[in-house]
Amino acid sequence: MNKIKILDESVSNIIAAGEVVENPASMIKELIENSLDAGGRSIRIEVKNNGRDVKLVDTGTGMEKEDLFLCVERHATSKIKDKGDIFNLTSYGFRGEALASIGSISKMIISSKTKDSKGGHKINLNAGKVTKYEEVARADGTEIEIKDLFFNTPARLKFLRKKSTEYARIREIVLKEALYNIEVSFSLFLDGRETIKTSGSGIENTILELFGRNTLKNSTKFSLGYWGNMNLLKSNKDSIYTYVNGRYVKSKTIEKAVLDAYYTKLIKGKYPFAVIFFNISPELVDVNVHPSKKIVKFVDEESVHKEILDQLTEAIYRDDRKNSIDLKIEKDKNIEKNNFLDFEELENLITPTENIVIKTKQPLLIKEEKLENKVAERIAKASRYSQEYEAILPPEILPLEIKEKEIEKESKIEDEKHLEKEKNSVEIEKILLAETKESKAHKDLKEKEELKSNYRVLGQLHNMYILVETDEELEIYDQHIVHERILYEKLKETHYNKKISIQNLLVPIKLELNGYEIEVVRGNLELFSEFGFEVEEFCDNEILIRGVPIFNFRVSIEDTFKYLLENLGGNDPREKVIISMSCRNAIKAGEKLSIEEMETLILDLHEIGKYTCPHGRPIILKMTFDEMNKKFNRK
Ligand code: ADP
Ligand code: MG
Repeated sequence: MNKIKILDESVSNIIAAGEVVENPASMIKELIENSLDAGGRSIRIEVKNNGRDVKLVDTGTGMEKEDLFLCVERHATSKIKDKGDIFNLTSYGFRGEALASIGSISKMIISSKTKDSKGGHKINLNAGKVTKYEEVARADGTEIEIKDLFFNTPARLKFLRKKSTEYARIREIVLKEALYNIEVSFSLFLDGRETIKTSGSGIENTILELFGRNTLKNSTKFSLGYWGNMNLLKSNKDSIYTYVNGRYVKSKTIEKAVLDAYYTKLIKGKYPFAVIFFNISPELVDVNVHPSKKIVKFVDEESVHKEILDQLTEAIYRDDRKNSIDLKIEKDKNIEKNNFLDFEELENLITPTENIVIKTKQPLLIKEEKLENKVAERIAKASRYSQEYEAILPPEILPLEIKEKEIEKESKIEDEKHLEKEKNSVEIEKILLAETKESKAHKDLKEKEELKSNYRVLGQLHNMYILVETDEELEIYDQHIVHERILYEKLKETHYNKKISIQNLLVPIKLELNGYEIEVVRGNLELFSEFGFEVEEFCDNEILIRGVPIFNFRVSIEDTFKYLLENLGGNDPREKVIISMSCRNAIKAGEKLSIEEMETLILDLHEIGKYTCPHGRPIILKMTFDEMNKKFNRK
C-alpha cells in the first residue's frame, strides 16, 4: 500500500495558516490589505479577546454571492490572472491564501454588498467549512468577523502572547498601514477603546492623528517624506518608518542611511523619528526575501543608501540654516593659518606607548627648528621606547644629522680664522635667538590669552552643546561638530604637508571583511598608506593592519577603518578619508565634558577660525543680548 497521500484541504489550509497568520496582528494586516485592495476609503477594526476576536468593516467594492463563496477557497484571488501579472503587481494581495487560511483556524462570518446589487450576502464558516448562507440588507462594502482564532490549533494558541503585547503589535500594524494610506480613514478599537483614528485627509493630518501635535510640529517635509528634529529623539529605531513602493518594510540599508544623515546630531543611544516613502523600479527590489514581506533587498543597496543619505542630509542642512532666523550663524572666516605644525602640536600627536614602534615616514623636521637639538632629543626619547628605532629610521633623517655636523665643522674653521670676533658675535646671536624665541612663544601665549579674553565658557547643555558668552551675545556650539572640525583641519594639514607619521603595531590588527570591503581595500592600498594605514591582505576575507597613523583614536582602529571603508565611494577619496577619520573619532553628542575640555575645544576652534563642519553645517548658533532683551520686552 502506498504511504504518500494528498492532504485533505482542511489540513493543508491549517498548514498554510501557519505562515499567513503568525499572530492576530499579521492576520489584521492581511484583512486591512484586502480592504485597501478593494478600494475601501474607510476601515474600522474592532479587536477583543487578546486579538482572537476581530471585526473589520470596510467601504470597498464588496463581493457578489459567487465571489463570497470563492474568496475563502485556497488560491482564490481576483488580483492576478496569469503568470505575467505576478511581476506587475499593483495590489497588496495576490496569493489568494489569506482568507482561506484565516477561515481554517477560526469561526468566520463574512457579509458583503457591491454597489450594483440590491442586497448583500452573508456566509458563516467554521474551521473553513461554510455552515450558513443568507441574504442580508447592508451598506456597500465588506464586513469580516473572526471569532476564536486558533480554536482548533491549540499549539498556536499557546504562542499567543499576553494581551498588552498582542495589542501593541496590532496597534503598530494598523498605524503603519494608516501612515501610508493617507486617503483612507482608519479606526482601531481595542476592547472597545478607540486607540487609532485617522481622517484620511492627507499626510500631515495623518501624522497629527497618529503621533500627536508635538510630532507634527517637530517634523519637516522633505523629498522622501518627513524627518523629525531633536525634540523627537527615541530610544529605539522603531520610529523610523520606511516604505518601499507603498509597502511598509524593514531595510538595514535605509535605516543606516537615515542614521548616517543624522549622525552629528544624535545623542548616543537615541534615534530619530522619520517617515521615508521610497519608490524604486520594481525590478530593482525584492520584497519577498522574508515570507511576511517585511524585509526588503535592493539590487544596488549602495545607491539606495546614497540616494536617501543625500536627500535627507540636504534636508537637514537646509533646515539648520532656516531655523537660525533668530540665531545667526557664524560664517567661515577662512583665517589663514600657517601651514606647519608646531613641535608642540606634533609632540601632542605623538604619544608613543611601549608596544608601538615609531617610524617617521616623511621628513620630521620643519621650520627653523631643523638644526635645533630638539631633533636629537626626540630621537633619544623615541629610541627609549624601542631599540628598533635606529634600524627603521628612514634615510631622510640621517643627512640632516650629517649636515648638522658639517655646519659645526665649518663654524670651527671660521672660529679659527676670526676667533675673537666670532666668539662675540656668536654670543650675541645666541642671545638674540633666545630673545626672539622667547618673544615668539610669548606672542603665541599672548595671542591665546587675547582670544580667550573675548569669551567665557559657561557650561554644557544636554551633554551636547557648549554654551559660551561674549560681551554681546550668547553662543551655542555643537560639541561634536566643533571637535570634528578641529580633527579635520589637523588631519588635512598633516596630510597635505605629507607629515602623517605612522606607528607600526607590534601586534597587527586582523580584520574580517566582506567581499565588497575587500575590493575597496584592494583598490585603495596606496591611498591608505598615504594616510598611514599599512594594510596587507592576509587571506580570503581577512586583512592585516600593520601600521596606523599617529592619531588620537577615540574609537578603536578597527571601527575607524571599517567606517572609512564604508564611506570611501565616490569622488575625492582623500577628503573622504579625512572626514571619516575625524567624524568617527570626534567627541560625540551625549558625552559629558569638563570645563577645561570645553575651553580647549573652543580655543582650538577659534585658532583654526573655521565655523562650519566639514560637511558645511554650522557649528555655532548665536543670539545677541539685544535680541534677547527684545524678546523679553526689555526695550
Ligand atoms: P488575495 O488578497 O491574495 O487575493 P485573499 O485570500 O486575501 O487573497 O482574498 C481572496 C479574494 O477575496 C481577493 O482576491 C478578493 O477578490 C476578495 N476579497 C477579500 N477581502 C475583500 C474585501 N475586503 N473586499 C472585497 N473583496 C475582498
Ligand atoms: Mg489578501
